[in-house]
Amino acid sequence: MTDLQSSIIAIENLLQEGSEASLTYAALECRLAIERICYERLRVAHEYISHDDLKKWQPKDIVNTLIQEVDSNAAATFTLSIGSEPVQEGAPPPTVEDYQSMEFLPIGTHIGFDPSKLGKLWNALANLALHISIPETKDTSVARYGDAEKVREKVSESLAEIKRIGQGTLLASGFGEEVSFVCSCGVKNKRRLSLLKNGQTISCIDPKCDESYTYIESSLSFGRRSLDIVCRKCGSQQDIPSKKVDKLRKDQRIYFDCEGCGEQISIEWRPMQGQRTKPQPQ
Ligand SMILES: [Zn+2]
Ligand SMILES: [Zn+2]
Repeated sequence: MTDLQSSIIAIENLLQEGSEASLTYAALECRLAIERICYERLRVAHEYISHDDLKKWQPKDIVNTLIQEVDSNAAATFTLSIGSEPVQEGAPPPTVEDYQSMEFLPIGTHIGFDPSKLGKLWNALANLALHISIPETKDTSVARYGDAEKVREKVSESLAEIKRIGQGTLLASGFGEEVSFVCSCGVKNKRRLSLLKNGQTISCIDPKCDESYTYIESSLSFGRRSLDIVCRKCGSQQDIPSKKVDKLRKDQRIYFDCEGCGEQISIEWRPMQGQRTKPQPQ
């Protein structure tokens, strides 16, 4: 669980101090706290998603990706409880009435938030406090700090939200049926079945691994994405992970040795000319 208490105290003290400099610093502390809230949810989800599958990097985008791909409850509020008595082994599954008569002990509360609201606060704090307005005319002065009143208002609004989220006592990585596969590197990858889409590319969660897979819904399987290479000298075949090629920039090559004859093979992106004869108008 992220301990937001130290950030909350720092922001409150800076607000009380109230100078333009301390309000600016308070805005920065708020931004950092919002980033910690979002990135901590990513940290607990890392067993379920690779860094390479996060396409956007603003804190709210990361949380939105988690909601779509890892846990639809990543930004929801709920309390997790366990039954005080274990269910007897071999006993028939409990009915709704059985559950209602059981005693439950709360484990903790996962506090939710609206990612787009948090993203707006994060942006507004920077616009008001961490950047200087561009002068529109020669007569506009270039201020040292942002408008103190507006900064104070936005910091107070952010602080209330940070305090609310800070009451959480639990961070869960989601519920529901899991599917898994073992990557060729040996690392087990897991995903929530209900959030997988046919044809979706899944990168191995090991940051050092270049493998990625395509999810095939009809067979609930994961197909390795690779490029087949045939050696021009000895004809032996091998494959390389597609992600290695996807990541190549223009004018960049990857080199590897042929497994058959040891000759060096290289791969690079090349522009290719396309051409076709247009049908003549009748
Ligand atoms: Zn791997
Ligand atoms: Zn060869």
